[in-house]
Amino acid sequence: MDEVDLFEAEALALRRANAVLADAGTEPAAHRAALEELVQHYGQLMRQSRRLISRSDRTERELNQLNARLKQLSDELDYKARHDNLTGALNRGAVFERAHQILEKSAMSLVVLDIDFFKRINDEFGHPAGDAVIRELVGRLRSTLAGTGVVGRVGGEEFTILLAGMALEQAVILAGKIRQAIAGERFQCLPERAVTSSFGVAWAAAGSDFEEAYARADQALYQAKRGGRNRVESEDTVTG
Ligand code: GH3
Ligand code: MG
Ligand code: MG
Repeated sequence: MDEVDLFEAEALALRRANAVLADAGTEPAAHRAALEELVQHYGQLMRQSRRLISRSDRTERELNQLNARLKQLSDELDYKARHDNLTGALNRGAVFERAHQILEKSAMSLVVLDIDFFKRINDEFGHPAGDAVIRELVGRLRSTLAGTGVVGRVGGEEFTILLAGMALEQAVILAGKIRQAIAGERFQCLPERAVTSSFGVAWAAAGSDFEEAYARADQALYQAKRGGRNRVESEDTVTG
């Protein structure tokens, strides 16, 4: 029975009971009958109320679940917009954004690195093998950094590491360790040949322009490539 009908029935029963009460001449039996009818309707009202309450509880639970799912989806979308699909590292946009945030508060060093002769790896072993090298390389970056820095994939086979508050000399030492972690042991995904990469390191003062520091690091990287690859150069050592 739907609610409106039920409430109309209750109202009618109430009117009948009032009429019985108002009529001084009615027998006690009529009072009892009116009372029984009222009690029966009261029971129906209670049952109907319980049904309504449980229905609204269920609606609230469903709304909460929907909200949680929406929040989860928006978090996932936000994550995907800021991370590189292949490696899970920050993408170019996100790493530049992070760099600007860091420089608002502190100085930092940055390391840019580029895999040496990567095109040959693709040519000799295929694009999927190249992808696997990129993934394993980021794994080695992460384990060498052990949480010290932020890793970003700024281009196909080019990466940036942000080292908040780190001095240039320390960053050069760290870049040397990373160079070794890549070149020192054959990749599991590509045991046939060594993978090496070249590094450029620069330092940026708090409040300075990140793009300008990035250009200096890139210049140092270029120097490392020209100098024979598989090496670290810093902005200090860059000559013209
Ligand atoms: P260099 O030592 O001067 O850096 O030489 P290189 O061969 O690494 O440099 P180059 O810029 O000539 O080639 C980079 C190659 O990286 C070309 C491109 O096809 C490849 N590449 C870029 N992104 C990806 C990727 O996501 N996956 C794979 N497998 N290859 C990629
Ligand atoms: Mg490159
Ligand atoms: Mg390269």
